[in-house]
Amino acid sequence: VNIPRKNFRSVFKWGDPNHEEILDSGIRRVLKEVFGLSDDCFSQPFLAGERQISLNKASALAAPAIAELREIVGPENVETDDFSRAYHAYGKTYFDVIRLRLGMVDTPPDVIVYPRSDQDIHQIMSWCSNNGVPLVPFGGHSSVTRGLECPHGGVSLDLTRHLNQVISVNETNSTVRVQAGIGGPRLEQYLNAFESGYTLGHFPQSFEHSTVGGWVVTRGAGQESTCYGKIEDMVRAIRLISPVGTITTKDYPAMSIGPDLNNMIMGSEGTFGVVTEVTLRIRAYRPQNVRYFSFIFPTFEQAIQTMRLAMQAEIGHPAMFRLSDPEETDFSFRIKGYDRKIDDRLLRLMGYHPRKRCLMYVTAKGDPDFSNLVERKISKLARQNGAFALGSKPVLTWLEQRFSSAYLRDPLMDAGIMVDTLETAVTWDNLINVWDHVRQTIKKRSPAVAMVHLSHIYETGANLYFTFLATMDRDNPIDDFLQFQASIIQSIQQHGGALSHHHGIGRMMAPWLEQELGPDALAALRALKKHFDPHNIMNPGGTLHLD
Ligand SMILES: Cc1cc2nc3c(=O)[nH]c(=O)nc-3n(C[C@H](O)[C@H](O)[C@H](O)COP(=O)(O)OP(=O)(O)OC[C@H]3O[C@@H](n4cnc5c(N)ncnc54)[C@H](O)[C@@H]3O)c2cc1C
Repeated sequence: VNIPRKNFRSVFKWGDPNHEEILDSGIRRVLKEVFGLSDDCFSQPFLAGERQISLNKASALAAPAIAELREIVGPENVETDDFSRAYHAYGKTYFDVIRLRLGMVDTPPDVIVYPRSDQDIHQIMSWCSNNGVPLVPFGGHSSVTRGLECPHGGVSLDLTRHLNQVISVNETNSTVRVQAGIGGPRLEQYLNAFESGYTLGHFPQSFEHSTVGGWVVTRGAGQESTCYGKIEDMVRAIRLISPVGTITTKDYPAMSIGPDLNNMIMGSEGTFGVVTEVTLRIRAYRPQNVRYFSFIFPTFEQAIQTMRLAMQAEIGHPAMFRLSDPEETDFSFRIKGYDRKIDDRLLRLMGYHPRKRCLMYVTAKGDPDFSNLVERKISKLARQNGAFALGSKPVLTWLEQRFSSAYLRDPLMDAGIMVDTLETAVTWDNLINVWDHVRQTIKKRSPAVAMVHLSHIYETGANLYFTFLATMDRDNPIDDFLQFQASIIQSIQQHGGALSHHHGIGRMMAPWLEQELGPDALAALRALKKHFDPHNIMNPGGTLHLD
């Protein structure tokens, strides 16, 4: 994507620079009802970010240093202008966006370098090591954990311009080997186009604007992870270039040769080195066989029971298995105006009441015998737990907007609404406890919307994904947000949820990592960091609480 190089909005806005989402009348109505917003809030955008970018902080690297980097990668692959430095200074979490809306870019990188090859990366890394300059790998720019910040300046190493190709596909082994800077759509289109048709099956909501390297080092999860697995289930081999050498693992289907090096690199979030190549398992792409089905349940507990039993029944796993809690279900009904329609009156008469009922969306993929079996068995379990089948249409509608809904954050923030997400993983026996307590924490702020969904489902538990909305403190938007966010993270941790299921840790969750892992485990990670990066140049300044 060629980003127009102009104002702060072009840096913080999500996705395609030419696509601005608007809040339709349904959403506006609900925002007015819940937050008491006036029409003015929609006509006068709050901190719209239209100011042209100009940074107060000059690059700390002197001209001869920049010249040496130009020598390595060619002058056209080195940038020092204010727009590029602001663009590479942050990711896409709310904290990043609000700082950019305020025009705050306190610690931009000094220079952006676009390597053309592994050889370039080796040379840039040596140069950084010799000169004590930080090096921060940069992929799709979608980090939601402050993973891309450059607290000590340095080089932002952007892999997306040149290292973005499929290297090879091995149809016999069912694998694809790629350069780490490749994005979701290019990889998926390449695989789909084969005569036999393949897919990776990794569809995070950020699919269109994130890269394989980013997925791997943050241990991401796609919307169909219930059948395809998280990215770590797909990875077969990795090449990592670190300041002390290169590790290239082999693409065995499985192995027992000591601790797993792939797993050691996955989750390292740019602190051990740069991932330059990945080999991934692929599967058959057969869109004609997909089954789409959905249900409404009378209660959250009954819907969860259905999910758990389905995952433990040995009937095969659905691809997408997604459940909205009562507040998310009601919110979606209200913004679409369904709560005022005759169908909704019927649903209420049938016992599916607001504040209790829950929507479940399911797809099943694979051989038709398999996908039909999965649909039949899950439908039976759902009926036994009080569900009413809604057919394929709600799922198809949801799938149509599954990537574009991310664009809504920008107009919501224009209207002065804080919107962000936090997520966790829980075992089945602790799911309701965490869901309930974290929601209560969010609701201490009044008014606040606390929507939750489950979308990565396992035999032993599931994720919980919290989306929270509240009005911004227009005088003190940053501290207000950070305090609110910290209270939610603490609540997740206090009640036994994982610090993250798939966003990773970055700098944002780092203060809570020691409590999550324990001091001895953190010491082991720090020892690895010391080995790979003795001069602490790789993504320094708090990432993963390693320095
Ligand atoms: C709207 C939205 C929706 C999202 N939905 C999902 C979702 O459904 N599932 C999910 O898992 N995540 C999701 N995320 C989070 C984010 O997309 C993921 O963390 C993603 O994996 C990051 O990939 P990226 O290429 O954008 O990496 P970046 O944001 O560029 O970088 C992320 C981190 O990885 C490091 N890094 C990047 N590339 C490399 C490399 N080659 N070698 C070493 N280190 C590297 C960076 O230094 C940084 O620390 C979402 C984010 C947004 C904004």
